Amino acid sequence: MLVLKTISEVRQAVAQYRKHGKTIGFVPTMGALHDGHISLVKRSFEENFATIVSVFVNPTQFNNKEDLEKYPRTLQDDVNLLQQSGCDIVFAPEVEEMYPQPDTRQFELGMVAEVMEGKFRPGHFNGVCQVVSKLLTITTPDKAYFGQKDYQQIAVIRTMLSKGYVPEFKGELVPCPIKRADDGLALSSRNQRLSPQQRISALTISKALFSAKDKVKDGATANDLRKYIEDTISFDSNLKIEYVEIADKDTLCSTNDLHNAIICVAVYDGDVRLIDNILL
Ligand code: AMP
Repeated sequence: MLVLKTISEVRQAVAQYRKHGKTIGFVPTMGALHDGHISLVKRSFEENFATIVSVFVNPTQFNNKEDLEKYPRTLQDDVNLLQQSGCDIVFAPEVEEMYPQPDTRQFELGMVAEVMEGKFRPGHFNGVCQVVSKLLTITTPDKAYFGQKDYQQIAVIRTMLSKGYVPEFKGELVPCPIKRADDGLALSSRNQRLSPQQRISALTISKALFSAKDKVKDGATANDLRKYIEDTISFDSNLKIEYVEIADKDTLCSTNDLHNAIICVAVYDGDVRLIDNILL
């Protein structure tokens, strides 16, 4: 496995694979890797000749300076984990390599980028599009793997691609299921920052989502589900809801029709912001 720091090294490696007609899978990450990330890497390993994983904490997608500073950085551990997971190339650039000058591009993506995460983290998705468009242009993979843990992010990237913002990328976007701990908590790099007590509180989030899904079978309405989730989560005094949304799973706009819906939540557990979702 190679660990590369520069864009030109990655382009050269990609050119070598292409010269020999080999397929490339790509998994973008911000590091602090866990089994959720690794499930994407393994999927890429199964489906492609070569797998490239980027490890880059992208400053332009953080709308909160403290969140950026506190984001866990564990490159050596990440490299060790990737070595055992079928990764061929780790691309771990410095900020100056990715942004030699400020990226001023604005991506016009409509409502899909304005609701939920877009509303509560202004500028977040624009930063995601900046980095993902650069990474897809550098790696030009046949398949790019994204986790449904960040469901809205996939919808935003799909919209970015369909609007022609990344002409160099002709591959396929592959959504992958959420990987959870045995007790149900969605794996996240941010879980590392939870105290033992906060870790227990965090469980309430996934439990509320699972129970809500069960209630659909018993005839619950969207309002019933919203209220149930809000009541269940706010019962724990460590948790503070940012949003509970029942959204159309394609447009991500709020809906009361549960037939094509997803429930998405963002919750502060102490000062750690957690997101989770469940498809109905
Ligand atoms: P991040 O490092 O948080 O930017 O995540 C990198 C990729 O891994 C994104 O596509 C995430 O959606 C995905 N990912 C993160 N956590 C999980 C999880 N628990 N299950 C599946 N994919 C995940």
